[in-house]
This record gives sequence, structure tokens and C-alpha cells, in this order.
Amino acid sequence: MTYQYWNQKMETLPRAELEAYQLDRLRAAVGWSLRTPFYQERLKQAGIRSEADIKTLADIRRIPFTTKHDLRNGFPYGFLSIPKEEVVRLHASSGTTGTPTTIYFSKDDISRWTSFVARSIYATGCAKTDVFQNMITYGLFTGGLGFHYGGEAVGMMVIPSGAGNTARQFKLMQDFGTTVVHATPSFLLHVEAKMREEGVSRGNLRLKRAFAGAEPYSEDTRKRIETLLAIDVYNSYGLSEMNGPGVAFECQCKNGLHLWEDGFIPEIVDPDTLEPLPDGETGELILTCLCREATPILRYRTRDLSGFYTEPCSCGRTHRRLRRITGRTDDMLIINGVNLFPSQIEEVIMSMKEVGNNYLIVVEKDGAMDRLTVKAEVNQSIFMDDTRPLNALKERIRKTLQGMITINPRVELHESGSLPVSEGKAKRVQDKRPKDV
Ligand code: ADP
Ligand code: ZN
Repeated sequence: MTYQYWNQKMETLPRAELEAYQLDRLRAAVGWSLRTPFYQERLKQAGIRSEADIKTLADIRRIPFTTKHDLRNGFPYGFLSIPKEEVVRLHASSGTTGTPTTIYFSKDDISRWTSFVARSIYATGCAKTDVFQNMITYGLFTGGLGFHYGGEAVGMMVIPSGAGNTARQFKLMQDFGTTVVHATPSFLLHVEAKMREEGVSRGNLRLKRAFAGAEPYSEDTRKRIETLLAIDVYNSYGLSEMNGPGVAFECQCKNGLHLWEDGFIPEIVDPDTLEPLPDGETGELILTCLCREATPILRYRTRDLSGFYTEPCSCGRTHRRLRRITGRTDDMLIINGVNLFPSQIEEVIMSMKEVGNNYLIVVEKDGAMDRLTVKAEVNQSIFMDDTRPLNALKERIRKTLQGMITINPRVELHESGSLPVSEGKAKRVQDKRPKDV
């Protein structure tokens, strides 16, 4: 296989040179951050008064962590490092876990961000001949404009279709010969179900690949989308605190996401002790942004759980690869004392071919105990007069889940298309237990 690089020198830079570059950028980022009210205070307490206090990359550990809570407390301008008239754009996180936080960009920030997204798109084999339909929410959410600018930089024709409205999406795909799409994995599954429902023939579409991200999904879900839609699916990871998309992306090897280490310094720590973990282990991902002057963020606790592959990638890129993000530390459910991530349930049900494209996890109180219900859609054909295959499937899902998660769930099967769909990030968990106050 031949691989194409957007910035070959930087993407294949030997590790020693990459680290020297990072040190240089880290000093610059500390310099930027010392112009914000928040870090002036925070870094002073840690004994860092100027960028010259950062002598080696290991000195990053002298910098205190920054949390989402800090960002909210700093609202609106506590993290702004440049005069307001130099700001050209504002974005906000989607607020999955609470009030949104705002990020500001200078002109140079936008162009640096764009080049990381363009590099990511290009690494999947796209070219200027591609037609790119960006089926994700535009607006404050970074996935819309982030991919839009990146796609234009690559030279593709970008269709800013936004999320939702599958009938319109199909029309655009057919009218303009869309070859590449970007969406959440849950929306891609929904699109596929709608295609069958509305009788859209795959033969009339020119789709080749999709970028799927913004929410966790399993390898089985990727395979399902790839098989059903006959396309290649590439995992895309980003978060608004680190610009948005373009932080880590899969190359054509589709085996882990290259984290662009000239733009971000990653660390993996134990989420409880916050101590660094040995290479290859799974823990909380900490990110330092090296490429944004207007809102510098250092050692950000993403709450996302992942780890690095230790062996190099065959594409020749030297930037390390993240494993698929399995969830956030704050996604974890505790059910009758057992810790459980929604991704563990997804892995089981998406591996069963009779199960349809949507599911929902409900947790309730039943007296003193917690009760877990897994609602899954099943493919239409199984809803026939005979209930035996349905009951057998239910029992098989229940048993497999129990074996995997040690909790005995209730399983409900629903007709395809009957569970709620979301156009943006899917809401897969309904925790109806009363909250402790
Ligand atoms: P919010 O934090 O409000 O959801 P963002 O839009 O910035 O706002 O979302 C970023 C988060 O989305 C990440 O921290 C991560 O939890 C999740 N995410 C993004 N891309 C992926 C991906 N490819 N796999 C798993 N999770 C992802
Ligand atoms: Zn690679």
C-alpha cells in the first residue's frame, strides 16, 4: 500500500526531533498561558513564572492539571490570552456533561486547526476529486466548521448538509455524487436503516468512506457500518477544549488513531491517583494544547479512557496511536456495586447480527436494588407470528450480557425504528435513579 501525507516531514519526524519540537511549542504555550488570568495565578502557585522555567519535556509534570470545572469557573474570559479584537471565532463544547465551556480562536489558531483536520482527512486517502458531505451539526459545535474548513483545505467539494433529515441527505448524495461523509456513528447507523426503509439503492450512491466520531463506539459497530454501507469507516477523535476534530485520527491502516503530537502533548494517567501509567496501559488521557494562542489549555483532564499502542504503525507516521476510546470516567455506571461502562453492553449487542442498529440502556431503582434494562432494536424479519425465535434471542442476549458484565439485565426487544434517535451525539443511557443530594 502507498500512503499519502499532508505534511510528510512533520508526520514522519523521528521521535527525538518530534520531542525537541514539542519542547519548543510547550514553552510557547506556557508563554501564552501566562497572559491569561487563570494561569497567571495557577502557574505562579506552581512556581512557574516564565516559559524559561520549562527546561525539559518532563517539566510538564510541574504544571497543575486543568479541569472542566476550572474552565467553567473561568467563564467567560478567564482563559483568554489575546486582546478581544484579535479573536476571530468562538466555539463551545456540546455540554454532554453540564454547562458548556467556550474556546476562542485567533486567525492563526484557525489556520493551525484547519491544517490538523486537513492532515487527518488526507491520511484516509481523500483527494480534491472527492465530494464531502458533512452530516454533523454546524454552529457552536466544533465538528461542523472544523471538518468544513479541513475539507476545503484538502480541496474537496464540501456540502455543508448538517445533521438530520435523511431524505435530504440522500438527495444530496445522489445529486452531487457524494464520496465521503462525516457523522456520528449512531447517525450513520440511522442513515443505513432509513436507506432500506426508503428504498434508496446503494448502487445509486458513490460513497467510499466515512469519518465517524464525537462519541464512543465499538469495533463491531464500525464493522457493521462498513458492511451495511459498503464503505471504509475511520475513527475521528477530538474535543472542543483541544480545538475540536483533528486531535487524533485513523490512517489507512485503521488500527488506532494517530495523535498529532506536534499539536498536542498526551499523557496517560491513573484516573484516581493521577500518576503516569506505564506505556501501553489504559487510563485517563491528559492533553496539552500546543497550537492555540487565544485560549491556551495545559494538561487538560479529558476524562476519556484510552491508552497507546506501543508498536509503530506501518504507514510510517511517528505520531503514536491511541486505542479506541471506550468511554469517559464520568460515563461509568455503578449498578448494585458493579462498575459498568455502556461500551461493554454495546460490544455484546452489536456483535449479534439479529440485533438492529439502535439500543438504549435504562437504570432504575427497584426497592433497594438497581435494575438494568437493555432495550435493543431487532431486524424486522424476526418479528413474525412465531415468538419463539424472539424469545430465544432475548435469552441469548441476556445470558451473554450476564457473562460479560456479571449483572443480570432485563432485555427488551423492539421493532426497528422504534427507539429514539439523536442527530448529534447519541443518548444511550437513561439513569432514572434518584440522585443523591
Ligand atoms: P462535550 O464534552 O460536551 O461532549 P465535545 O463536543 O467537545 O463536548 O466532545 C468531546 C468528547 O466527545 C470527547 O472528550 C469524547 O468523550 C467524545 N468523543 C469525541 N470523539 C470520540 C471518538 N472518536 N470516540 C469516543 N469518544 C469520542
Ligand atoms: Zn498509521
